[in-house]
Amino acid sequence: MSNRTPLMAGNWKMNLDHLEANHLLQGLAMALSDAGHDYTECEVLVIPPFTDIRSVQTVVEADSLDIKYGAQDVSIHDNGAYTGEISTAMLTKLGCTYVVMGHSERREYHNESDELVGAKARKVLDAGMTPILCCGEALEVRKAGTHVDFVLGQIRAALAGWSAEEVAKIVIAYEPIWAIGTGETATAADAQEVCGAIRQALRSDYGDATADATRILYGGSAKPANIKELMAQADIDGALVGGASLKADSFAQMAGFYA
Ligand code: PEP
Repeated sequence: MSNRTPLMAGNWKMNLDHLEANHLLQGLAMALSDAGHDYTECEVLVIPPFTDIRSVQTVVEADSLDIKYGAQDVSIHDNGAYTGEISTAMLTKLGCTYVVMGHSERREYHNESDELVGAKARKVLDAGMTPILCCGEALEVRKAGTHVDFVLGQIRAALAGWSAEEVAKIVIAYEPIWAIGTGETATAADAQEVCGAIRQALRSDYGDATADATRILYGGSAKPANIKELMAQADIDGALVGGASLKADSFAQMAGFYA
Protein backbone atom coordinates (compact mmCIF):
# COMPACT_ATOMS: atom_id res chain seq x y z
CA MET A 1 0.00 0.00 0.00
CA SER A 2 1.47 3.37 -1.02
CA ASN A 3 1.20 6.74 0.76
CA ARG A 4 -0.24 8.31 -2.36
CA THR A 5 -3.78 9.65 -1.91
CA PRO A 6 -5.94 8.39 -4.79
CA LEU A 7 -7.42 11.05 -7.05
CA MET A 8 -10.69 10.74 -8.95
CA ALA A 9 -10.72 13.56 -11.52
CA GLY A 10 -13.75 14.33 -13.68
CA ASN A 11 -12.98 16.01 -16.98
CA TRP A 12 -16.26 17.59 -18.08
CA LYS A 13 -14.74 18.66 -21.43
CA MET A 14 -16.99 21.06 -23.42
CA ASN A 15 -20.17 20.00 -21.65
CA LEU A 16 -22.58 21.79 -19.28
CA ASP A 17 -23.36 25.50 -19.02
CA HIS A 18 -22.87 27.13 -15.62
CA LEU A 19 -26.36 26.24 -14.39
CA GLU A 20 -25.96 22.61 -15.41
CA ALA A 21 -22.53 22.62 -13.78
CA ASN A 22 -24.05 23.76 -10.47
CA HIS A 23 -26.66 21.07 -10.72
CA LEU A 24 -24.10 18.32 -11.35
CA LEU A 25 -21.80 19.57 -8.62
CA GLN A 26 -24.61 19.67 -6.06
CA GLY A 27 -25.75 16.20 -7.12
CA LEU A 28 -22.19 14.93 -6.79
CA ALA A 29 -21.77 16.46 -3.34
CA MET A 30 -25.05 14.92 -2.25
CA ALA A 31 -24.19 11.48 -3.64
CA LEU A 32 -20.78 11.54 -1.95
CA SER A 33 -22.31 12.65 1.33
CA ASP A 34 -24.99 9.93 1.15
CA ALA A 35 -22.23 7.37 0.54
CA GLY A 36 -20.29 8.69 3.55
CA HIS A 37 -17.37 9.51 1.29
CA ASP A 38 -14.03 9.90 3.05
CA TYR A 39 -12.02 12.51 1.17
CA THR A 40 -8.83 11.32 2.84
CA GLU A 41 -9.35 7.95 1.12
CA CYS A 42 -9.87 9.52 -2.29
CA GLU A 43 -9.58 13.13 -3.39
CA VAL A 44 -12.39 14.24 -5.70
CA LEU A 45 -11.73 16.78 -8.43
CA VAL A 46 -14.00 18.28 -11.09
CA ILE A 47 -12.58 19.94 -14.19
CA PRO A 48 -15.31 22.07 -15.79
CA PRO A 49 -15.12 24.33 -18.85
CA PHE A 50 -13.68 27.79 -18.08
CA THR A 51 -17.10 29.44 -18.15
CA ASP A 52 -18.33 27.25 -15.28
CA ILE A 53 -15.43 27.75 -12.90
CA ARG A 54 -16.82 30.82 -11.14
CA SER A 55 -20.12 29.04 -10.48
CA VAL A 56 -18.33 25.93 -9.25
CA GLN A 57 -16.24 28.08 -6.91
CA THR A 58 -19.38 29.72 -5.53
CA VAL A 59 -21.05 26.39 -4.76
CA VAL A 60 -17.89 24.86 -3.28
CA GLU A 61 -17.35 27.86 -1.00
CA ALA A 62 -20.99 28.40 -0.04
CA ASP A 63 -21.48 24.75 0.91
CA SER A 64 -17.92 24.25 2.25
CA LEU A 65 -17.43 21.25 -0.03
CA ASP A 66 -14.25 19.18 0.04
CA ILE A 67 -14.51 18.72 -3.73
CA LYS A 68 -11.62 20.35 -5.58
CA TYR A 69 -11.85 21.96 -8.99
CA GLY A 70 -9.49 22.88 -11.78
CA ALA A 71 -9.17 23.80 -15.44
CA GLN A 72 -8.82 21.84 -18.68
CA ASP A 73 -6.06 23.99 -20.15
CA VAL A 74 -4.06 27.18 -19.58
CA SER A 75 -1.94 29.71 -21.42
CA ILE A 76 1.84 29.83 -21.16
CA HIS A 77 1.57 33.65 -21.18
CA ASP A 78 0.97 35.89 -18.16
CA ASN A 79 -1.33 38.43 -19.79
CA GLY A 80 -1.68 40.62 -22.87
CA ALA A 81 -2.68 40.19 -26.50
CA TYR A 82 -3.52 36.47 -26.52
CA THR A 83 -7.13 36.38 -27.60
CA GLY A 84 -9.10 33.51 -26.16
CA GLU A 85 -6.46 32.43 -23.68
CA ILE A 86 -6.70 32.10 -19.90
CA SER A 87 -3.77 32.71 -17.56
CA THR A 88 -2.65 30.83 -14.45
CA ALA A 89 -3.30 33.98 -12.39
CA MET A 90 -6.93 34.00 -13.52
CA LEU A 91 -7.28 30.39 -12.44
CA THR A 92 -5.62 30.77 -9.05
CA LYS A 93 -7.82 33.80 -8.35
CA LEU A 94 -10.83 31.51 -8.83
CA GLY A 95 -9.44 28.92 -6.43
CA CYS A 96 -8.42 26.32 -9.00
CA THR A 97 -5.88 23.86 -7.65
CA TYR A 98 -5.31 21.58 -10.66
CA VAL A 99 -4.85 22.18 -14.38
CA VAL A 100 -4.86 19.54 -17.13
CA MET A 101 -2.43 19.85 -20.02
CA GLY A 102 -1.59 17.71 -23.01
CA HIS A 103 -4.96 15.99 -23.23
CA SER A 104 -4.98 14.02 -26.48
CA GLU A 105 -7.86 16.15 -27.76
CA ARG A 106 -5.73 19.27 -27.41
CA ARG A 107 -2.70 17.56 -28.90
CA GLU A 108 -4.81 16.46 -31.86
CA TYR A 109 -7.08 19.48 -32.50
CA HIS A 110 -4.66 22.21 -31.43
CA ASN A 111 -1.38 20.63 -32.47
CA GLU A 112 0.07 20.85 -28.98
CA SER A 113 3.64 19.59 -28.82
CA ASP A 114 5.38 17.95 -25.87
CA GLU A 115 7.40 21.14 -25.44
CA LEU A 116 4.29 23.31 -25.20
CA VAL A 117 2.68 20.83 -22.83
CA GLY A 118 5.81 20.94 -20.66
CA ALA A 119 5.79 24.76 -20.68
CA LYS A 120 2.16 24.73 -19.52
CA ALA A 121 2.99 22.31 -16.73
CA ARG A 122 5.88 24.53 -15.64
CA LYS A 123 3.63 27.60 -15.62
CA VAL A 124 1.01 25.80 -13.52
CA LEU A 125 3.54 24.49 -11.01
CA ASP A 126 5.10 27.95 -10.67
CA ALA A 127 1.64 29.37 -9.97
CA GLY A 128 1.20 26.96 -7.06
CA MET A 129 -1.30 24.63 -8.74
CA THR A 130 -0.88 20.96 -9.62
CA PRO A 131 -0.34 20.05 -13.27
CA ILE A 132 -2.09 16.94 -14.58
CA LEU A 133 0.14 15.96 -17.47
CA CYS A 134 -1.65 13.72 -19.98
CA CYS A 135 0.10 11.21 -22.19
CA GLY A 136 -1.01 8.25 -24.24
CA GLU A 137 -0.60 6.44 -27.52
CA ALA A 138 -2.79 6.11 -30.60
CA LEU A 139 -4.03 2.71 -31.77
CA GLU A 140 -1.32 2.37 -34.48
CA VAL A 141 1.40 2.83 -31.86
CA ARG A 142 -0.23 0.26 -29.59
CA LYS A 143 -0.51 -2.18 -32.49
CA ALA A 144 3.16 -1.67 -33.32
CA GLY A 145 4.01 -2.57 -29.71
CA THR A 146 5.96 0.66 -29.12
CA HIS A 147 3.44 2.22 -26.72
CA VAL A 148 5.65 2.17 -23.62
CA ASP A 149 8.54 3.93 -25.35
CA PHE A 150 6.15 6.38 -26.97
CA VAL A 151 4.54 7.37 -23.67
CA LEU A 152 7.85 7.63 -21.82
CA GLY A 153 9.11 9.80 -24.67
CA GLN A 154 6.16 12.19 -24.28
CA ILE A 155 6.74 12.51 -20.53
CA ARG A 156 10.51 12.91 -20.78
CA ALA A 157 10.18 15.57 -23.48
CA ALA A 158 7.63 17.54 -21.46
CA LEU A 159 9.62 17.37 -18.22
CA ALA A 160 13.12 17.96 -19.64
CA GLY A 161 15.16 19.93 -17.11
CA TRP A 162 12.75 19.47 -14.18
CA SER A 163 14.10 18.64 -10.73
CA ALA A 164 13.09 15.52 -8.79
CA GLU A 165 11.25 17.69 -6.24
CA GLU A 166 9.24 19.38 -8.98
CA VAL A 167 8.29 16.13 -10.69
CA ALA A 168 7.08 14.72 -7.35
CA LYS A 169 4.43 17.46 -7.25
CA ILE A 170 2.74 16.67 -10.54
CA VAL A 171 0.10 14.14 -11.54
CA ILE A 172 0.59 12.08 -14.68
CA ALA A 173 -2.47 10.76 -16.51
CA TYR A 174 -1.94 7.84 -18.84
CA GLU A 175 -4.75 7.84 -21.38
CA PRO A 176 -4.47 5.52 -24.37
CA ILE A 177 -6.21 7.47 -27.14
CA TRP A 178 -7.99 4.40 -28.48
CA ALA A 179 -9.77 4.03 -25.13
CA ILE A 180 -10.96 7.63 -24.72
CA GLY A 181 -14.70 8.03 -25.21
CA THR A 182 -14.86 4.79 -27.17
CA GLY A 183 -16.21 2.51 -24.47
CA GLU A 184 -13.10 0.41 -25.08
CA THR A 185 -11.19 0.34 -21.81
CA ALA A 186 -7.64 -0.85 -21.65
CA THR A 187 -7.62 -3.95 -19.50
CA ALA A 188 -6.35 -3.37 -15.98
CA ALA A 189 -3.20 -5.26 -17.00
CA ASP A 190 -2.71 -3.03 -20.09
CA ALA A 191 -3.10 0.08 -17.93
CA GLN A 192 -0.77 -1.26 -15.24
CA GLU A 193 1.88 -2.17 -17.82
CA VAL A 194 2.24 1.47 -18.88
CA CYS A 195 1.64 3.07 -15.47
CA GLY A 196 4.23 0.70 -13.99
CA ALA A 197 6.70 1.60 -16.75
CA ILE A 198 6.11 5.30 -16.05
CA ARG A 199 6.87 4.80 -12.36
CA GLN A 200 9.95 2.78 -13.21
CA ALA A 201 11.16 5.57 -15.50
CA LEU A 202 10.57 8.14 -12.74
CA ARG A 203 12.60 5.90 -10.44
CA SER A 204 15.55 5.70 -12.79
CA ASP A 205 15.38 9.38 -13.83
CA TYR A 206 14.64 11.02 -10.46
CA GLY A 207 15.05 8.45 -7.67
CA ASP A 208 12.83 6.56 -5.26
CA ALA A 209 11.28 9.49 -3.39
CA THR A 210 9.90 11.03 -6.59
CA ALA A 211 8.78 7.71 -8.06
CA ASP A 212 6.97 6.83 -4.84
CA ALA A 213 5.32 10.25 -4.48
CA THR A 214 4.11 11.00 -8.01
CA ARG A 215 0.50 10.07 -8.65
CA ILE A 216 -0.27 8.29 -11.90
CA LEU A 217 -3.86 8.15 -13.15
CA TYR A 218 -5.45 5.99 -15.79
CA GLY A 219 -7.98 7.48 -18.22
CA GLY A 220 -10.02 5.95 -21.03
CA SER A 221 -13.61 4.75 -20.58
CA ALA A 222 -13.13 4.32 -16.86
CA LYS A 223 -16.51 3.70 -15.23
CA PRO A 224 -18.08 2.21 -12.10
CA ALA A 225 -17.91 -1.29 -13.58
CA ASN A 226 -14.12 -1.29 -14.06
CA ILE A 227 -12.80 1.17 -11.48
CA LYS A 228 -12.21 -1.35 -8.71
CA GLU A 229 -10.01 -3.53 -10.88
CA LEU A 230 -8.09 -0.54 -12.20
CA MET A 231 -7.54 0.82 -8.70
CA ALA A 232 -6.27 -2.56 -7.51
CA GLN A 233 -3.21 -2.15 -9.76
CA ALA A 234 0.00 -1.24 -7.95
CA ASP A 235 0.83 1.83 -10.02
CA ILE A 236 -2.61 3.30 -10.68
CA ASP A 237 -3.44 6.05 -8.20
CA GLY A 238 -6.73 7.23 -9.61
CA ALA A 239 -8.56 7.98 -12.82
CA LEU A 240 -9.15 10.83 -15.21
CA VAL A 241 -12.77 10.29 -16.15
CA GLY A 242 -14.66 11.81 -19.07
CA GLY A 243 -18.14 10.47 -19.83
CA ALA A 244 -18.81 8.82 -16.48
CA SER A 245 -18.00 12.05 -14.60
CA LEU A 246 -21.05 13.74 -16.11
CA LYS A 247 -23.36 11.61 -14.00
CA ALA A 248 -23.26 12.41 -10.29
CA ASP A 249 -24.07 8.90 -9.12
CA SER A 250 -21.57 7.19 -11.42
CA PHE A 251 -18.74 9.50 -10.50
CA ALA A 252 -19.50 9.32 -6.78
CA GLN A 253 -19.51 5.55 -7.04
CA MET A 254 -16.10 5.65 -8.71
CA ALA A 255 -14.68 7.91 -5.99
CA GLY A 256 -15.91 5.33 -3.47
CA PHE A 257 -13.99 2.48 -5.11
CA TYR A 258 -12.27 1.69 -1.81
CA ALA A 259 -15.51 0.96 0.08
C1 PEP B 1 -10.86 11.80 -20.91
O1 PEP B 1 -11.41 12.65 -21.56
O2 PEP B 1 -9.82 12.10 -20.34
C2 PEP B 1 -11.45 10.46 -20.84
C3 PEP B 1 -10.76 9.52 -20.29
O3 PEP B 1 -12.71 10.27 -21.36
P1 PEP B 1 -13.65 8.96 -21.21
O4 PEP B 1 -13.65 8.60 -19.75
O5 PEP B 1 -15.00 9.41 -21.68
O6 PEP B 1 -13.05 7.90 -22.05
